[in-house]
Amino acid sequence: MADINTCLRSYESLFFQELSEVNTAQELELFRTKHLSRHGELSKLMQQLKDLSLEEKKTAGPLLNVLKVKVSDAFTQREKEFEQMRIDHQNMLLTHFDVTAYKPVQPTGSLHPYTQVIEIIEDIFVSMGFEIVDGPEVETDYYNFEALNIPKDHPARDMQDTFWLTLPGLLMRTHTSPVEIHAMRDRKPPLAIVVPGRAYRNESTDASHDFMFMQLEGLFIDKNVSLAQLFATMKTFLQTFFEKKNIAIKIRPSYFPFVEPGVEIDMSCPFCTHGCSVCKKTKWIEIGGAGLCHPVVLKAGGIDPKEYGGFAFGFGLTRLVMLKYGITDIRLLHSNKIDFLKQF
Ligand SMILES: [Zn+2]
Repeated sequence: MADINTCLRSYESLFFQELSEVNTAQELELFRTKHLSRHGELSKLMQQLKDLSLEEKKTAGPLLNVLKVKVSDAFTQREKEFEQMRIDHQNMLLTHFDVTAYKPVQPTGSLHPYTQVIEIIEDIFVSMGFEIVDGPEVETDYYNFEALNIPKDHPARDMQDTFWLTLPGLLMRTHTSPVEIHAMRDRKPPLAIVVPGRAYRNESTDASHDFMFMQLEGLFIDKNVSLAQLFATMKTFLQTFFEKKNIAIKIRPSYFPFVEPGVEIDMSCPFCTHGCSVCKKTKWIEIGGAGLCHPVVLKAGGIDPKEYGGFAFGFGLTRLVMLKYGITDIRLLHSNKIDFLKQF
């Protein structure tokens, strides 16, 4: 008798232990087959009742019946839980998904106006067949001055206040033009490159001057290069950049040591027809210097000036950014003020 009691108790604890470990509907079905089917564990226990004496049957019978009800109820309860889970899952799949529902805004950054404008400029020049080139910001005296036809005693050196480094002969480049020499030496003509990059001048700062600014350098080398090609390139670029087909350019003779002849390029004001504050009522805006490459510069780049010619231009990229976005103080561009930068 003690045996059947122990047997029932240990079976009960096994039943509940295994039921608690059931995690899926499939596992529940396997559990049912193992314990509650015709040939399951519970039936086997009932069979054992037949072998007991009449006395024993009287005691064990009700106990077994109680156990049978207890485990059946527990199983039915578990089965209901799984059915509810299935219905909940089904309902979730059928629930209407509201794509306009409120979602907390995630703050994101934006590209600096310099980066945005450089990308626009690069796209324009790449579409005209130019290659984008980079160069060092720390230069030697040779690349920054001498190779560009500005020898030591040349008065043009006074035009550019230079940041010299403590190492002799090294400086922060005063313009992006040294990249022209690097590019000519690295490539074979014909070549067409543009160089967006920083330049440094030892100047006091105000709303339109900073000791660091961005330039856009361009160089085109081929046989029979003319000023007409230069002007057409400038005009196409400016019209595309400012998205105004009617932008005109005006050429003024000028002097830069690395070009001959040298010119300054003005463009008609893209913001007005009769004069405005941007063009200071003149209807024209100075945009940069340009010219045909000086033979000394071509030779410094390893190119024979008898065979090849070229044009070069240097635009104030900072000025283009300020014009494009209507920024009136250059210092804002370099100040890292979040409130200012958030607008772009
Ligand atoms: Zn204007």
